Amino acid sequence: MGKIRQLDETLSNMIAAGEVVENMASVVKELLENAIDASAKSVEVHLREAGFREITVLDDGEGMDKDDLRMAFKRHATSKIKTHHDLHHIGSLGFRGEALPSIASVAKVEVDASLNEQSGDRIVVRNGDIVSEEKGEARKGTKILIKDLFYNTPARLKHLKSAQRELSFVVDYVNKIALSHPHIAFTLTNNGKTLLKTQGDNDVLKVLHQIYPLDVIKNMLAFENKNQYFKIKGYMSKPSHTRSSRQHMTLITNRRIIHNNKLLNAALSAYRTYLPVHKFPILYLEIEVDPLLVDVNIHPQKLSVKFTEEAELRKLIESTLASRLKSEDLIPMVERREQPAPEQSGFDFTQAKERQSERPSKVEETPAPPPTPEKTQEEPASKKNKRLPYLSYIGQSFGTYLLFQDENALYIVDQHAAAERIRYEQYIAAMSRETPTVRNLLTPFDLSLSNREILAHESIKETLLSFGLHTEVKDDTTLSIHSHPHWFKEGEEEEYAERMVRLLLAEEEVSVSKMIDKVAADLACKHSVRANKYINKHEIDRLIEDLDRCENPFTCPHGRPTILSFSTHELETMFQRVQS
Ligand code: ZN
Ligand code: ZN
Repeated sequence: MGKIRQLDETLSNMIAAGEVVENMASVVKELLENAIDASAKSVEVHLREAGFREITVLDDGEGMDKDDLRMAFKRHATSKIKTHHDLHHIGSLGFRGEALPSIASVAKVEVDASLNEQSGDRIVVRNGDIVSEEKGEARKGTKILIKDLFYNTPARLKHLKSAQRELSFVVDYVNKIALSHPHIAFTLTNNGKTLLKTQGDNDVLKVLHQIYPLDVIKNMLAFENKNQYFKIKGYMSKPSHTRSSRQHMTLITNRRIIHNNKLLNAALSAYRTYLPVHKFPILYLEIEVDPLLVDVNIHPQKLSVKFTEEAELRKLIESTLASRLKSEDLIPMVERREQPAPEQSGFDFTQAKERQSERPSKVEETPAPPPTPEKTQEEPASKKNKRLPYLSYIGQSFGTYLLFQDENALYIVDQHAAAERIRYEQYIAAMSRETPTVRNLLTPFDLSLSNREILAHESIKETLLSFGLHTEVKDDTTLSIHSHPHWFKEGEEEEYAERMVRLLLAEEEVSVSKMIDKVAADLACKHSVRANKYINKHEIDRLIEDLDRCENPFTCPHGRPTILSFSTHELETMFQRVQS
């Protein structure tokens, strides 16, 4: 009978393994979470061949005695989660007691554990069975060695991605767990090569610097804020330092990495018009909240979390990040790069590799500077609220770029982008007015549209009217305009009206603020000075004055920079007048 039961258990473990053990990263995840739950201060992960050959996880946590060690390979052996109530308290990382037996059913496993320095135990598990028990290393903590993952289920082995790809998932996961546990020292190696090493001294910025290059760290802004329910803090990248996916936006609650797209969107709204499309900031955001306000949805691979009062949290995130951006000098500084711009693929793995070669064996030091604003201390009173430096004009280049200088740097302004930003903000201000100032037309003018567009017009009529555009259907293909907002440019009223109508028709979902944004950006682009056009000094002075008055003078409405700078130091270095 015992045998049958045993077979049963092994089988069900193998089935469970399919759910829990999806890839290398999921194995590493289970083992790391066990180590963290054992109160480890230091956790090492060593891989051979991206984990295909071996995964070793070594911790200095509480360890286990012989009985615990045996129990660890029984399903549902966990003592961590006992009641439903506990699930709402997401302090504990290990949710699934079957993780270790599941792994042991599809890999060769050896575990060394010790409660103290005096003695240790070792067990060896094959096909889910304990095949030997002996004396082990007398080192406090636990060491788990996983060999030949999926050796007995070749079909599943085939399912894994390439070594490089699996490794990138592991690196990404360990990066995030290191960020969420800055008080624990993590080491990750593959074939003896260090990919991540953190100090465990509770300094998130230092952990970030182990993951990202120095120029990213220099361009991270610290933020902190709270309302009656939530406290948030973290680091956000300036708009000049972006990535091509949301992968680098990390949300953490009560030391857990969580997934919540609405919160990420709130953060992204703060960056609206600061970033081009498909570009995302690097963000580390910690949310402190009473666990009772958290609704956890457990999924083996990720933790989706909803919050009670989530709308309040979204507001807090958006306003905090937006005002942080507003308080900052965001002129991107052009710097020489020793290496080509990293990260096209979005993999941290490549970065980790680059970073290691960049700084051999210097991991202990902390070159990360404080992320404080780089503004000068005493500024003339007239410079209050001025966001651009005093720019003294040098000349125009290619009919497109305006050159300026001050005592610290050379500045290059893209005249189209700058003019676009100015107009965009003017349009936004005019369009956002509660009651738009309207010009009523004695003789209406007509727009030619398709019959389909005329039919669809009914659904946007009200919205158009709220902007001051009074439209009436004249016939199957003609729309009459009876009034338009005051800010329409004289002589181009028809074109403005047509753009508004068409943009609104093209939107599947009409959100007024999105619509305002689109129309404003679109019109601003259309009506701003083009590249390849020489403009006179008077126009230039006016442009810079107006740009400086903008809420965000640093990017055009499409997120492209309006201004770049080369510091005098950087120039001197490039001309080798000084050593960098
Ligand atoms: Zn444009
Ligand atoms: Zn633009």
